[in-house]
Amino acid sequence: MNKYIFVTGGVLSGLGKGITASSIGLLLKSRGLTVTAIKIDPYLNCDAGTMNPYQHGEVFVLDDGTEVDMDLGSYERFLDIDLTGDHNITTGKIYKSVIEKERRGEYLGATVQIIPHVTDEIKASIKRVAERTKADVVIVEVGGTVGDIESMPFLEALRQMHQELGDDCVFVHTTLVPVVSVVGEQKTKPTQHSVKELRAIGIQPDVIIGRGTAPLTEGIRRKIALFCDVPFEAVISAPDVHSIYQVPVLFEEQGLPELLLTRLKLPAKARDLSQWQRFVDAVLHPQEQVRIAIVGKYTMLRDSYVSYVEALTHAGAALGAGIEIVWIEAEEFSESHMEGIDGVIVPVGFGHRGAEGKIRAIRYARTHNVPFLGICYGFQLAVIEFARSVLHLEGANSTEFGPTEHPVIDLMPEQRSLTEKGATMRLGAQPVMIERGTLAHKLYGATEISERHRHRYEVNPRYVRDLEAAGLKFSGKSPDGRRMEILELPGHPYFIASQFHPEFTSRPTRPRPLFVGLVQACLARRKLLVSS
Ligand code: GLN
Repeated sequence: MNKYIFVTGGVLSGLGKGITASSIGLLLKSRGLTVTAIKIDPYLNCDAGTMNPYQHGEVFVLDDGTEVDMDLGSYERFLDIDLTGDHNITTGKIYKSVIEKERRGEYLGATVQIIPHVTDEIKASIKRVAERTKADVVIVEVGGTVGDIESMPFLEALRQMHQELGDDCVFVHTTLVPVVSVVGEQKTKPTQHSVKELRAIGIQPDVIIGRGTAPLTEGIRRKIALFCDVPFEAVISAPDVHSIYQVPVLFEEQGLPELLLTRLKLPAKARDLSQWQRFVDAVLHPQEQVRIAIVGKYTMLRDSYVSYVEALTHAGAALGAGIEIVWIEAEEFSESHMEGIDGVIVPVGFGHRGAEGKIRAIRYARTHNVPFLGICYGFQLAVIEFARSVLHLEGANSTEFGPTEHPVIDLMPEQRSLTEKGATMRLGAQPVMIERGTLAHKLYGATEISERHRHRYEVNPRYVRDLEAAGLKFSGKSPDGRRMEILELPGHPYFIASQFHPEFTSRPTRPRPLFVGLVQACLARRKLLVSS
């Protein structure tokens, strides 16, 4: 029998509901329960694939190739599980399936309505995941803010589930407890209002998580308990912390897992959080520090690169190193930005804007022995930079940016024949074969790996021989050998790039080799600079 925890949010978005949901999941998992998580996104897009990272943060990619909301990245990282596309439910997906059923005549002449047809579809989508995963606890996070028109059908579906399942469901509501700076006093009114809004829909929260800059005072917790009709111990404080990975520890200290276990009538097993605690300690108390530049296009909105930040944090923690990330806007890149930088990442990207700045950054890293990791777009631009500078193919470029004299990055013929926009991406986990004796082989310690992909363009096979003859080593390829997957530069301290996205599969206690290698190379470079 699955139990459910529904996580809603009030007052405003961006309160860290995803981290709340993930932290609860981790704590229950640490008690020996199996946990899974579902994200509901009340927008009409069927998936996140076409969405601008400026608006919603990074597009996260799962093993099965689904492009999903970045909260699924948090679930995977905190719970150390691999999810599938059905863990991200959007209004678009629900309506599409309802409308398809209607067209097939499955509603037998009924008037198709939001209640019950859309709400039934929502409940069925949640239960399908619950049944398939057989998880003891299914955490369902509802995106957006209570009161939004878009989220109404979802909240109504959850209300119905509560009516059907009773004590097997718990509602956790995350709200903001602001401090009015003039008086410095925590204010509960926004929380009261959002709970009132929830109740108007028929949902009474069981737990209230109060976000704010400082911990909630006892008086404020009492007030929230009284006004919102929850027990005092169910008002949990979630103040700002240095690292998101501290949040589970914070909840643990306040007894949140016990409260949830009692509510859900789940047996409490011995807890084991020691591995997590060690990881958090390593994040909070690094022995050394390195500065890594990310030369990107959306550096204004850090959420667009969240998986990179996390992957670096995980790799750093494993090596006792704290990572200071220096954000460099690609279009503005100049060599002066590289002062005091230990390593460079050129990440994912689409379109021409910023490409030349990123190429300049790659050239600097290559010619100044600065550790470099290129990912996807960064991999493609490293090939372009090498073709221009070393093969002297001045017009070398990617056909993504228009017709070019030397299309070193191009679509594969089979990609070209697929014209429908959005449907041509090579997505999800794909096998990569690694050549023995290369840097990639040393890092992975394997000759066959699987990594997640999200791209259209590839290294043009026509140029591979010339690039390799000039010293660029393609150490990872697709099993048929046609697609270049990893490049490296023998003789350089650390110059490696991948067509795939290792950042998506990095986990707190299982960092990915390409990031570990980068941090290691940065530490080595620091030592060298100090001793010289
Ligand atoms: N724009 C490039 C492509 O489509 C790279 C994509 C990426 O960086 N994810 O192949």
